[in-house]
Amino acid sequence: MPKITDIKVIRTRATGTWLVVKVFTDQPGLYGIGSAHEMNATGAVVAAIEEWFKPRLIGRDAAHIEDIWQTTFTSGYWRSGPVHNVALGGIDIALWDIKGKEAGLPVYQLLGGPCRAAVPCYAHAHGATLQALEDDIRSYLEDGWQYVRCQYGAYGSEGMLPAADAKPPAGIGAPFARDRVFDEETYVQNVVGMFGYLREKLGYGPKLTHDVHEHLRPNMAVRLAKLLEPYQLFFLEDVLPPEQIAYFRHIRQQCATPLAMGELFTNVQEYLPLISERLIDFIRVRVSKVGGITQANKVAHLCEFFGVQTAFQEGGNTDPVNQTAAMHVDMARWNFGIQEENDFRPAERDAFPGIPVIEHGYLYPNNRPGLGIDIDEEKAAALLEPERARRPRYVAEDRKVDGTAVRP
Ligand SMILES: [Mg+2]
Repeated sequence: MPKITDIKVIRTRATGTWLVVKVFTDQPGLYGIGSAHEMNATGAVVAAIEEWFKPRLIGRDAAHIEDIWQTTFTSGYWRSGPVHNVALGGIDIALWDIKGKEAGLPVYQLLGGPCRAAVPCYAHAHGATLQALEDDIRSYLEDGWQYVRCQYGAYGSEGMLPAADAKPPAGIGAPFARDRVFDEETYVQNVVGMFGYLREKLGYGPKLTHDVHEHLRPNMAVRLAKLLEPYQLFFLEDVLPPEQIAYFRHIRQQCATPLAMGELFTNVQEYLPLISERLIDFIRVRVSKVGGITQANKVAHLCEFFGVQTAFQEGGNTDPVNQTAAMHVDMARWNFGIQEENDFRPAERDAFPGIPVIEHGYLYPNNRPGLGIDIDEEKAAALLEPERARRPRYVAEDRKVDGTAVRP
């Protein structure tokens, strides 16, 4: 059985926010890679892996994936959280890669074998105007995509007003002043109007979703879900912030709009009640952030018993290794619902030989042993822009007209 001899973290992408964990073994040429991507607290995750997890894992048997997961999870006594969990997730994904390579099988075969021929994905459509959004959706539909997320302008901008029109307080300045400010009533009106427009133009065939990004007060979220019911969304995403998940019960009692939630979840107690009480339809955890393939697979199994499906999160900032890890779980779980797409620039794809292909709305595994994806370290290093990687990153502060911060 292979013993872990070293663990290193490779920072790549221009921003240095893709953290590829490489776990080496004492078997010649046998290593695995995982994703510990972290957009903001990047350095903290690197330190957690290299300075904290690595010393206790050197010499451990790489085949003991579950035991390593359980003991690493509690190794600091305090557990869960976005830094700890993604560090653990990156190592866990790499251990599954090693196990697959040893077995000579793709990881999805080790998880029970395929339940489908390929993985359906949803596309991201947006437009500054309704016409531009419609055109973008049509371009995906014509290419064969069946599921499309619809955002009017940038995230949350459906509710953005020019500050001058919204009547700000006299003399408003830093840190409260913004050129454009968020208004909840405007948001709800515009999103309902957007789906009215899209259904009139496109009919009810395309499977459409929308991401609220948690901007609303709970009762406004209930109202939005009710008002969208006639437009038959495939799902409504992140309609509540994680702090207000008890309000899903109110939405459930009042409408049948399908609900997707979970990209910020890192603690089992955040998603367990929503699944076991059947308050959501799709769990949207990110595979690396939830604790890797081991935990994502358990979450999917748990969901099966409660009639909940998976819709693992990707989005624009995650890396090809995380997407590949999600794809393996997607392939093997019967109650898979949909996979969020992610596309990468050609130079980024070149740095990850074996990267799965997305064509006409389907993600295809390549059937190589393990994850089937590798990292070309020279090309990965060339992507990095050291100046950008050194700069701290924070989530943008959207604010209301009086200066109140809106949940991102
Ligand atoms: Mg989201």
